[in-house]
Amino acid sequence: MRILLVEDDPTLGSGIRSGLEGAGFTVDWLMDGDGALQALLSESFDLVVLDIGLPKLDGLSLLKRFRDEGNKLPVLILSARDTVLDRIVGLDNGADDYLIKPFDMDELYARIRALLRRKADRATPLVNYGDLVLDPATRIVTFKGKPVVLPTKEFVLLHLLLDNTGRLISREKIEERLYGWRLTVESNTTEVHIHHLRKKFGKELIITVRGAGYMVPKTA
Ligand code: CA
Repeated sequence: MRILLVEDDPTLGSGIRSGLEGAGFTVDWLMDGDGALQALLSESFDLVVLDIGLPKLDGLSLLKRFRDEGNKLPVLILSARDTVLDRIVGLDNGADDYLIKPFDMDELYARIRALLRRKADRATPLVNYGDLVLDPATRIVTFKGKPVVLPTKEFVLLHLLLDNTGRLISREKIEERLYGWRLTVESNTTEVHIHHLRKKFGKELIITVRGAGYMVPKTA
């Protein structure tokens, strides 16, 4: 899952980024509101973690302009301002959730997981597909009742495919989700991850559509 982090405090920003990356998210980080708005309008993310006090364009104005474009991407606001009014204004401007600084990183992860679950239209925290059960919180995958340990990128790719069953996902989109702006990998990395997932969970799990991308069928 690819998250855009917009935070102008270098210490806090780098702490949040490394925390989220450690939790298995792909994170792209920008420090001003104007650059963030441009990125949001031109690229595709799964969620935004947005500070309110930002240079060039403040977080609430950014959010309003972004929503005015009709974009429904989940947005979680971070703010030092602990007033009820700020929270109300944030939510009324289109935020989906709100955390007040200082916050506990585990709470941030849990809120992000909840927002992504809603985005994927899932009622339960676990992702179930045939003999596969994937737990986004613990990052444990169970296959035919046995736990399978997956490297982070393989886990993220499996999660992406299972959240989009019946939908074709291009290699470009997969790479964007796995690496964001840090993409420096060989172009065959996705094939390698897919190969490993098929070896672990069966060939038939993932369909390749030549020249177009990959898909997990709607029903197992
Ligand atoms: Ca700030």
